[in-house]
Order: sequence, then structure tokens, then C-alpha cells
Amino acid sequence: MSLLSVEGLTARYGSSQALFGVDLTIATGEVTALMGRNGMGKTTTVKAICRLIRSAGRLTLDGADLHCLPSHKVARMGVGLVPEGRRCFADLTVRENLIAAARPGEWTLKSVAQLFPALAERMAQRAASLSGGEQQMLAIGRALMTNPRLLILDEATEGLAPIVRQEIWAAVRRLKEETGVAILLIDKSVKELAQVSDKAVILARGKTVWSGPMTDLTPEISERYVGV
Ligand code: ATP
Repeated sequence: MSLLSVEGLTARYGSSQALFGVDLTIATGEVTALMGRNGMGKTTTVKAICRLIRSAGRLTLDGADLHCLPSHKVARMGVGLVPEGRRCFADLTVRENLIAAARPGEWTLKSVAQLFPALAERMAQRAASLSGGEQQMLAIGRALMTNPRLLILDEATEGLAPIVRQEIWAAVRRLKEETGVAILLIDKSVKELAQVSDKAVILARGKTVWSGPMTDLTPEISERYVGV
């Protein structure tokens, strides 16, 4: 059975409809890339999954209807979000940011520090003083500290220097290889997404227009819907 199942998802911002029928499924241990040009509904889909905006359609995690739950309960059920813009508590230290998110499980301060050694050296620093790359590591660390079953990274490497981007991709690969967490990835780099993802789901104008194994994603489909 799928861990996450989304079927016919619709959502609107006021009078403007943004999602018109998003379908996707994610299984445990699977990495899924959510792709599409700008403004096609990727972030809105993620917000709907996390119950940060209202939506309709089928939305279940492990068979439980997420539409009945507020966002904090969705997080407690095991959905860890690394939002676009990586919001951390700027005035708290790295350690405090991580502890504030902690729930029991295999992810602890120690295991996050092992995944991101750069954070280990900065546990006592305020989040505001970190570089963009370190802040993204902290945002991922915070999501992991909730011990999620599904980790969602919205714009995983946006605005980061190439060397830091490589560190983030390496961390995603380690999560894939060494843990059973399901991962939903949004990023502009199709090449990196293709290397790490098992599956792709492509959105156009708020709808799923293609989904399948990453190996079936041809250059023609990419060019048509993703713009590369
Ligand atoms: P990007 O890659 O640019 O982040 P996206 O695929 O994540 O794009 P969304 O941000 O989900 O796309 O946007 C989907 C549609 O909803 C777009 O038409 C966008 O203009 C609209 N939209 C997004 N956020 C809001 C908002 N807060 N209020 C009104 N409309 C919005």
C-alpha cells in the first residue's frame, strides 16, 4: 500500500483555483520528484498535503484521511516539511532549533550532526548567523528531528552555491540508501532529480500530466512539461 495517496486534489487561493486534479502516490523508501514549470502547482500541492491550505479530493497517509486533520497533527503523523525559503527560528541556536522540533525516534542531535558535520560545529550559533547552505541543512535537520515517515523538500537546493548543493544531494542520497524514509523532492535541477529519484510526477496548470518511473522520463516529456 502507498504511504501517501493523493487523488483528484483541488485547491484554491480565494477565488483563484490553483489545483485542478493532482494525483500522486508515494511508497515507503521511495524518492519521488514533483516536477513542472514555475507556477504549475508544486508548492500548492505540498501545502495541501501538509494541510497548510484547504483542499478537496483524496488525501491519505497510511490510509488515514488527512483532510480531517490540522497541520500539526499531519506533522505528528509523520510528514516532515522543509519549506521553500527554509524557515528556521532565527533567534534560536542551531541546537535549540533542532530540539524544538524533536520527537522520539532514530533521529537525534547526534545523527543530524553526523549527516551534516557543518551543523555539528555550529550547535551554539544563532540560526540567523548561518550561511544559506547551513540554514538549509538546519531546515532538513529540523524536519528529520520530527522522525518523519515522509520528508518533503520544497526547492531543495534553491539559491545555494554549487558545492553546497552537492552536499544537500549527497545527504538526500544517504537518506535514501540508509533509511526507509519516503521523500518528495521539488527542485529546479532536473539532472540531480533524475539521479536520485525513483519516480517523477509532473504537474502542468495544477494537474498531474505525467507520472512514472524516472527511467521512463524521456527528454521529449521533460522538454514539453518541465522546459529542459
Ligand atoms: P514555483 O516553481 O514558481 O514555486 P509552483 O509549481 O510551486 O511554482 P505554486 O506556487 O503552487 O506553483 O503556484 C500555483 C498557482 O497558484 C500559480 O498560479 C500561483 O500564482 C498561484 N499562487 C500561489 N500562491 C498563491 C497565493 N498565496 N495567493 C494566490 N495565488 C497563489
